[in-house]
Amino acid sequence: MGSFWIWWIVAVIHILPFYDSNPLIQTIHARTPQSPVQCNQSGCTLQNSYGAWGDRKDCYALNITYPTTEEQLRLAVSYAVQNNLKVKVVTKLSHTIPKLACPEGKTNTLLISTEKYDSGIQIDAANLAVTADSGVGLRALIDAVESAGFSLVAAPYWEGVSIGGLISTGAHGSSWWGKGGAVHDHVLGLKVIVPASESERYAKILWLEALDPLFNAAKVSLGVLGAISKVKLSLEHRFKRSISYNFTDDAHIEDVYINHAKQYEFADITWYPSKHTAVYRYDSRVPLDASGNGIYDFIGFQANSILISESVRAAENLLENTKSVNGKCLTAATTLEYKKLVGNGLKNNGLIFTGYPVVGHQGKMQTSGSCLYSTRFDTACAWDPRIKGLFFYESTAIFPASRFGNFIRDVRKLRDLNPENFCGVDNYNGILIRFIKASDAYLGQSEDSVVIDFNYYRANDALTPRLNEDVWEEVEQLAFFKYGAKPHWAKNRNLAFLGVQHKYPKFNQFIAIKHKLDPQSVFSSTWSEEILYGKESEKFDGCALEGLCICSEDRHCSPQMGYYCRQGLVYKEARVCRYSSSITTTSIA
Ligand SMILES: Cc1cc2nc3c(=O)[nH]c(=O)nc-3n(C[C@H](O)[C@H](O)[C@H](O)COP(=O)(O)OP(=O)(O)OC[C@H]3O[C@@H](n4cnc5c(N)ncnc54)[C@H](O)[C@@H]3O)c2cc1C
Repeated sequence: MGSFWIWWIVAVIHILPFYDSNPLIQTIHARTPQSPVQCNQSGCTLQNSYGAWGDRKDCYALNITYPTTEEQLRLAVSYAVQNNLKVKVVTKLSHTIPKLACPEGKTNTLLISTEKYDSGIQIDAANLAVTADSGVGLRALIDAVESAGFSLVAAPYWEGVSIGGLISTGAHGSSWWGKGGAVHDHVLGLKVIVPASESERYAKILWLEALDPLFNAAKVSLGVLGAISKVKLSLEHRFKRSISYNFTDDAHIEDVYINHAKQYEFADITWYPSKHTAVYRYDSRVPLDASGNGIYDFIGFQANSILISESVRAAENLLENTKSVNGKCLTAATTLEYKKLVGNGLKNNGLIFTGYPVVGHQGKMQTSGSCLYSTRFDTACAWDPRIKGLFFYESTAIFPASRFGNFIRDVRKLRDLNPENFCGVDNYNGILIRFIKASDAYLGQSEDSVVIDFNYYRANDALTPRLNEDVWEEVEQLAFFKYGAKPHWAKNRNLAFLGVQHKYPKFNQFIAIKHKLDPQSVFSSTWSEEILYGKESEKFDGCALEGLCICSEDRHCSPQMGYYCRQGLVYKEARVCRYSSSITTTSIA
């Protein structure tokens, strides 16, 4: 991984001869990720794993409790209900990007952490099921079931999450086969602790299974129904997978994505638009006795030298400040070449990549996150908020499968106008395309769907515009408004949630159950309601820069820095902040 970033920096240095070879690098001795909650005598603050919420404002709570058993979890909910406190469940690392996990108010709030409620894992071999405490980490769960001879079929690609947190937000990997790539579609049962009457000691435990009318609401609940105590998931007998990546041209993505997903059980596609490259993941199950002991240690989730992460960020800031499109394109090219060279992080023997296919156990091929365990003082996850490392947005849009082809065609048109404007995203992971199946979960996908993820530079300051930000704003608006894509609940900038309630046919059923289980809205807050109901908040100067609004006047962008509110180039209804060197303040609203 280290050499990847060195390539990156070398590329930047080449195109920027004035690059200061000794940037101000603040190096700290970071290792494993920090707790998202920091408390002192006056209360606690909650961060997400990137260290910044969408609005960059801190989230406060009066207190936090760390139950270790189900009864302690029930008592915590009971205490909150009895004392009229507002509650949010937080997890060991709190990954949600939207402010879902932030409770209402500073003085009457309680965080209930599942960090220490993480040891119970019961495997029911006869019925191919596992039941875990909600704080159990995904990696611990995978290792436990694999060592007992079973596999979890679906999981997100990042293993730092907890089982309660990941199902609450609809987290997924990629598959259209069987029950599909979303973990909540493999849930057989759930225990949820909800507010109750005095005679029920203020909190009661509900055990929900498939036929229960509450089950489909509880499978993906954003934490607003109550505290999930246990999750029961289906298992399969342990199996292996064989993965190859085909780095090829991007000419036919819109024609082949459906067949690709049908042909390979764990298919995905990564599109690097500026490089006219698509990377097809050929990923299928193979028998347990197939030879190979490979792992997938995705390069984006490997530990990086802190010094290099900070240098990369410094270089990226410089390219932004100097509006160096060429610089971004050069670094995008070296990034892609490096990924090709190392098979994206696949390792045939667990150590290095020597060629395709890479065959390994499901437990080592689906999910990774080796930066979580970095023991060296000078390495960390590249986005660790304690260092001045990578800082980016993550947009994730979920399309009905049938509409996805036309979305790709529109993005291609936009790309063809000026491919170099797309280099920024190719410095991260391009556009990752994954597949999830239709679900019964009320806040899950009602039809077979295609998911895209893309990461892109976020400025240090909320009011600093970004190079070619209009391109990504147009892609966002194409996805969420022209093609009606739904936002991933735990990712995205606020604008992605506008009107989200109208995109879920069973939204009203979910809300009815929310009112029934938590009539006093103990588990809700302004922020989670903003996401759930997709409310538009008041616009202010610069709000479109961070995706807190869609611009309708120039002042929502940054006219003082030359960014004006303009219509989209392909999607004319889009309103984006575009740079113009000629001074004009005409509004298009
Ligand atoms: C580097 C990275 C990679 C990622 N990769 C993927 C991916 O491949 N696929 C994908 O779909 N997502 C991915 N995500 C998003 C991630 O899956 C979600 O953010 C997930 O919700 C995080 O789980 P968590 O344990 O951190 O939960 P949190 O973020 O802490 O919690 C999420 C929400 O669930 C609630 N909650 C948590 N536990 C409970 C509980 N026990 N009871 C009630 N409510 C609860 C919280 O209050 C909060 O509202 C990624 C995120 C990051 C940072």
